[in-house]
This record gives sequence, structure tokens and C-alpha cells, in this order.
Amino acid sequence: MAWDFETEPEFQGKLDWVDRFVREEVEPLDLLWGGLEYTPLDDRLRPIVDPLKQQVREQGLWAAHLGPELGGEGYGQLKLSLMNEILGRSQWAPIVFGTQAPDTGNAEIIAHFGTTEQKERYLRPLLDGEVFSCYSMTEPHAGADPTLFTTSAVRDGDEWVIDGWKFFSSNARTASFLIVMVVTDAEVSAYQGMSMFLVPADTPGVDIVRNLGLGGEPAGNGSHALIHYDGVRVPADALLGGEGQAFAIAQTRLGGGRIHHAMRTIGMCNKAFDMMCERVLSRETQGGLLGEKQFVQGYVADSYAQLQQFRLFVLRTAWAIDRYQDYRRVRKDISAVKALMPGVLHDIVQRAMHVHGALGVSNEMPFAGMWMAAPALALADGPTEVHKVTVARQVLRDHRPSDDGWPTGHLPRRVAAARAKFAEHLEHEVGNL
Ligand SMILES: Cc1cc2nc3c(=O)[nH]c(=O)nc-3n(C[C@H](O)[C@H](O)[C@H](O)COP(=O)(O)OP(=O)(O)OC[C@H]3O[C@@H](n4cnc5c(N)ncnc54)[C@H](O)[C@@H]3O)c2cc1C
Repeated sequence: MAWDFETEPEFQGKLDWVDRFVREEVEPLDLLWGGLEYTPLDDRLRPIVDPLKQQVREQGLWAAHLGPELGGEGYGQLKLSLMNEILGRSQWAPIVFGTQAPDTGNAEIIAHFGTTEQKERYLRPLLDGEVFSCYSMTEPHAGADPTLFTTSAVRDGDEWVIDGWKFFSSNARTASFLIVMVVTDAEVSAYQGMSMFLVPADTPGVDIVRNLGLGGEPAGNGSHALIHYDGVRVPADALLGGEGQAFAIAQTRLGGGRIHHAMRTIGMCNKAFDMMCERVLSRETQGGLLGEKQFVQGYVADSYAQLQQFRLFVLRTAWAIDRYQDYRRVRKDISAVKALMPGVLHDIVQRAMHVHGALGVSNEMPFAGMWMAAPALALADGPTEVHKVTVARQVLRDHRPSDDGWPTGHLPRRVAAARAKFAEHLEHEVGNL
């Protein structure tokens, strides 16, 4: 019997350490320096953050999901999932543990598709936690449908020249390099005609026109860039993977990125849920605690059940990725988890915020930022609708149409078949009457 829902004691010990460490040592960073987590460390923060990273390394938990050849522990996605449930509580925690988006996904594709030189130049510093990276794919006029992308790279001798616009390229402002998806052959289908390039952020022509924030964040100070690639020249060896391989590479990158978001979302949901429970056990109204009112008990029960369902689905999907080592084989479940994620987060945060009354919607509680993460997660790495289409297509591949247009479950036909199967016994029955 292979099913087992228990964590092995040795790793549980590590998770207990992570939980205490994140609450006591890392969450205070969010309160004082939230929003700076993707900025390379300066003289003020280095003495604070470097020792924390060192403690994570000493525990054998740095970039834990990566294999030892890449500086990690090779724990895989299931253990990363259990860790990320804790790290998702905090903005800084993924940085302190070397597991932050979009760098984990970017590291994964350089590890898979990069040349030895590319790994040395880009992957090594990324894994050491010294630099940040950006994934630049969405364009101002096209996101969910990459076949509409127009940013292009044209070969010119030993160089490629990139021209076009990209939108919502997260962390471009602090990244030391960008992975850019562009059209390299407009004559063939987009699935064969697009390529990825590794572009150092200081290459002439990489023009960050402005940085957008999410709704509620101050104008002009966001981390999602509108970028004009204006005659950006890169050498031929800046190509990541082969020419025309962008779609295959994107699937590798986005598969990991999506499930990692889901893991961290469990952490955010847990945080909101704990706050909801504390509140309903603390606040009295109309002769009793909130937690004694049936409406409120419904909030607690629904949130608990939603979170447990979602968590088990995420863990099983992470287990399947470890098992098959192939994101494409687990694509249906990754997309299903991705599509569920914003709804689960929204519902739990909304209830937690609501039971806190006016205080809950105020800027003295963290719910508004958590709440905004729900619509953002419904878009980042592809909109919910597109993932549902993927799920439905994959599910329907395992089903067949009926032979003659009548449902195979149509009862008259099934009864007739059952009668035929047991005809001999039915004759006796009739005879005995
Ligand atoms: C927080 C955040 C971070 C991001 N980071 C990055 C990043 O680092 N790099 C990057 O390249 N991009 C990034 N993005 C962009 C993200 O990938 C796109 O927002 C996403 O792919 C959708 O593209 P779009 O915004 O152009 O919306 P559109 O493609 O215009 O879609 C808009 C809406 O149309 C509907 N829709 C679209 N397609 C279908 C369909 N087939 N069927 C039914 N309805 C459909 C959906 O309701 C969808 O929400 C980020 C987005 C967010 C919110």
C-alpha cells in the first residue's frame, strides 16, 4: 500500500524549524522592508539578510528543490510544497530560502536548456542568491495568446537584433538579466517560429518605459515593467535552447512556476485562516462569540474544507511531478490547480477580512494586499479560462463519444443489456411466478 499522508519525522523536524524561523526571524523583515525583497542587497540589508540565508544553508534547506549539481538538496517538488506552505506566509521568506518566483522557473530552464557558458554566467549567481532575473513574455496587446506576439529578433551576422515591446515583465527593474521570448521566424507557425534569448539588463536598447504596480500600490513604484526592446543587439550565443524552441521552453518554465505559486498560496490561505479563527474566538456580539454563530461557523467550515481539498490536490500534483519528472505529463493537474488557486485564496481571505469588521478592511490589517493577490494570481502565468480549457481538453482525451448518439448510460439500453445477460435467470423467475 503506497499511499501515505504522513511526513517522515526527519523532514518534519526541518519543517518545524522552518516554521519557527519564518515566524520569528523572517516575517519581521516584511513589516520593515516589505517590497524591497527583490532588490539586490545593499550595505544596510546585507548584514541582516545574509546571516539568515546562511542559517538556511546550514539547515540544508537552500534552494532545496534543486539537485545537488545545481547547489540544492534535491528534495523535489513534494518537499518543496511542504516548505512553501510555510514560506508563503511571508514576502521575504522565498528570497531567504532561494525559492522565489520568477527565479526558480528561470533557473530551471537555464539548467535544462542552457549551455555550459550560460549556466556559468547566469545560473550560478542566480542560485547563489546574488542576482535576480526577469521573464519577459507578455506584450501590451497580447498575453494569453502567445501566437499574437510580434516582438522579434533578426539575425545580423554574429548577432541578433531584438525589437518590440513587452508588458508586465516582473522585477525587470532589479533583474540583472531578462529571458525574452521573441519571433525569430514569422514564416512558420508560432509554435516553431519563436525563440528565447538571455539578455543582460544593461544591454543598450533595453528601455524600461515605466513600472506598473498592482491596484492599491502607489503609482510609479511597481515591479511590473513595460519594456521597449529598441534595437537590442545580443550575440548568437544568447539564444537559450535551439532556434524555434520557445514554446517547449515556456512549458517547462511555466509548469514549475504555476505549481510553486499554488504551494505558496496555501501558506497565504493558512495565514488568513488562522487569523479568522483567532478573531471568531475573540470577538463577542449579541450574547456570544462570533464562533458560536452558525453563519460564522459556515465560514470556518467552508474555508477549512476548501483549503484541505486544495492542499491535497497541490501535494498530489507535486508528487506526480517528482514521480514522472515531466511537467507535460502532469499538465492537466497543474492547470486545474492553477485555475482553482485564485478562487480558494479569494474566498478564504474575503471571509477572514469580513469577520474582522471595519478593522479587516483597514490598512492596519494585511488582508487587502492578500486579497489583491487573488485576481493577480488569476492572470499571472495565464488566465483561469485558458487553464480550464487545457484541463477540459486533457480530460476529454480520456473519454470517447457514444457509438450511435444515444448515451451509453441511457437506462432502457442498459436494462435491455442487463436482461440479455441474465436472460436464463429471468426466464426461471417468470416460470416460478
Ligand atoms: C502579478 C502578475 C505578474 C506577471 N508577471 C509576468 C512576467 O513576469 N512576465 C510576463 O511575461 N508576463 C507576466 N504577467 C502577465 C500575464 O502572463 C498575463 O497577464 C496573462 O498571460 C494574460 O494576458 P493579458 O493580461 O494580456 O490578458 P488577455 O490575454 O487580454 O486576457 C484578458 C482576459 O480575457 C479572457 N480570456 C483570454 N483568453 C481566453 C480564452 N482562450 N478563453 C476565454 N477567455 C479568455 C480572460 O478573462 C482573461 O483574463 C504577469 C501578470 C500579473 C497579473
